[in-house]
Order: sequence, then C-alpha cells, then structure tokens
Amino acid sequence: MYNYLVEPFDYNDIVLDLHDISLLLTYERGITEPRFRHAKLREVATGLSDFQTIKLPDAPKPKWSEATIPRTGYVFVKPKQSLSKAESEELDLPSNMLLKPVSTSLQNLSSKQLETYYWQPRNHDGCYRTVRLFQHFMDLFPSEFTRIMVRAVANNKPRTYTTLASDRLIIEMKLRGPKSMNFTCALPEGRSYVTGSDEVSAHVVLAFPAPSDADDPQTILDLASLQFGDAGRGCKGRGLFVLEPVQQYKERLKNFADGNNFLEDKITQRITSTPDDDFLKNVANRAKERWEKRKTDFWCGHCGSPARNDPLLRCSKCQQAHYCNSEHQLAAWPFHKHFCVDPSAPKPQWV
Ligand SMILES: [Zn+2]
Ligand SMILES: [Zn+2]
Repeated sequence: MYNYLVEPFDYNDIVLDLHDISLLLTYERGITEPRFRHAKLREVATGLSDFQTIKLPDAPKPKWSEATIPRTGYVFVKPKQSLSKAESEELDLPSNMLLKPVSTSLQNLSSKQLETYYWQPRNHDGCYRTVRLFQHFMDLFPSEFTRIMVRAVANNKPRTYTTLASDRLIIEMKLRGPKSMNFTCALPEGRSYVTGSDEVSAHVVLAFPAPSDADDPQTILDLASLQFGDAGRGCKGRGLFVLEPVQQYKERLKNFADGNNFLEDKITQRITSTPDDDFLKNVANRAKERWEKRKTDFWCGHCGSPARNDPLLRCSKCQQAHYCNSEHQLAAWPFHKHFCVDPSAPKPQWV
C-alpha cells in the first residue's frame, strides 16, 4: 500500500520550476509551429499603414481598414518548392525569420522587435493551445508526486513557493473591447488569422494557488500574452510570456482590453481538446526531455534556446544562468536579478 515510498523517485527531480518549463515550452512551440513552419516574414504593416505587397483577402478587409484601434499586420511566405533536407530541418527562429532579400522596412529591426514579430502571429488563438500544451506536459509526470515551484516578481520583490501540480487551475475569461488588432496572412495559401477584431474575445490562463498566508492568492501564467504585442511581455516589459501575481495580472489586462470578467468567470481543471494536439504533445515531449537534461544541457534564460556552454555567456555573478548573447542576458535581468545567487552562499532548498 505504501509502495510509493520506495519508488525510485528522486523527490527533488519532480519539483518543476514553472519559469523554466515555461521557457522550454515556449521555445519548443515556436520553432515548429505548424501554421508558420518554414514561413518567412515579408512585410509588417503597423499603425494606420496598409500592406504594400498584398491586397488583403476580402473577409478581414473591412474590419482591418475600419479598425480604430492600433493594428499590426504580417505577411508570411511559405516555400513553394520542396525543401532540401537541411532546409526542412531548419528551425523557425526570430533570427532567421525574415524573407531574403530583406525589404528595406524590415532592415535594422531590434532583436526585441523581431521577437514581437515572431511571437505575435504565433500566438493567434494561442491561449487555449498553450493551456492544453501545459496540460500535455504535466500529463508526462505522476500528478501525485509532482510539485511546481513558482518563482515570480511582485512589487519588485522575488516571490517563491511550491504548489501541487494538481492544484493548478484554468481561468477562462472574456475580454471586452480589445485594444489592438493583429492580422496575419500566410502565402501562397492565403490563410489568414485575426486577433482582436471581435468586440468580445475569450482568453484563458493558468493559475497556481499560493500558500494561504500569502499576500496574493495566486500566480498567473499567460503563455500566449504576446498576441497582444509588447503589452503582453512579462517582467519589466521584456519576457516572452507573463508569470506574475494575480493582482498585477489584473492591472495588465487593462492594456489588453477595455474590460474583462477575470476572476468572476469560469474556473476549470482541464480542457478537452484543441486543434494540433499531436503537435502539442510532441512539443511537450521535447520540453520534458530538455528538462530532464537540465544539469548538463543548459538553456538561455530569456528565450529557452539551447545554450552554448560558453563561460562568457553566463551570468558572471552566479555562473548558473546561460544566455544566447548579451541582449538576451539584459532582457532576462529584471527577472533573474531577483533569483541570482552567489554560488558560495548556502543553497536554497529547491536548487
Ligand atoms: Zn536566448
Ligand atoms: Zn546570475
């Protein structure tokens, strides 16, 4: 009956760091996202400008041209011919996303703009898919033995606690009066995706209950927040997803839409299915493999990309955090600085 006590589990191995698994899930989802697989970005139309290289398909056109809210439009081009083996294995990344030759308007983008242009289209209808992805990931671990360590920053202070994985919740809400609209067209099929064109849109996030004596009852994880553009960036406007205390998230929602029924709406524990479930399971498996190799195969603390083991690209203080480059290190610093520990100091229990 008490067999589980002698199961070959290292208890510490199934404490999952929510921030880090979110990085891995985000990265692994982006690099092979089916709607944009091998597609290159040709044009971006922002503000009041219209596309220069395409005429919009009829359906979204009236909404696009009549929109009174800020608009961002993307044109992606998928390869027409079959790809060579090397090309077909190439991952989709912000750094290789632009169509060659790069149009004048897309030259000189900052790495932050490139990231937004990469993630905003990929997060169309992304919220249910990311919640489902998280669910697939958690299904790979024994629920009764798995705890989640939540690390977040609240009022410029670190906040860390663990919760049972099975105690997480899904919060579904309605956003009224979206504050931005984004439209993406993928050619040559002409498939298009629009976010923010309806007066009311559904949104869904994960919630992780805090200990009962905490100031804030929950921490929210929104893995599709970049569909709202830079307003959806995490910690100090740099992160690729949002992981923050519920009160802070409530304030953030005002940047997404004029109104919402967050916290009054439906709370569930599982969602049943979404399109692309096979793809999402695949992503979950890859993220789990990487998590299990975390002691040898490091990842970038900003984007989740596999890290080169270069001492110059590590945090000079703790030597534990790895980055692709100095830009990613800077982007991660507003979060990392709260958790960066000198290795000579006594280790916190969860390391
Ligand atoms: Zn990186
Ligand atoms: Zn550090």
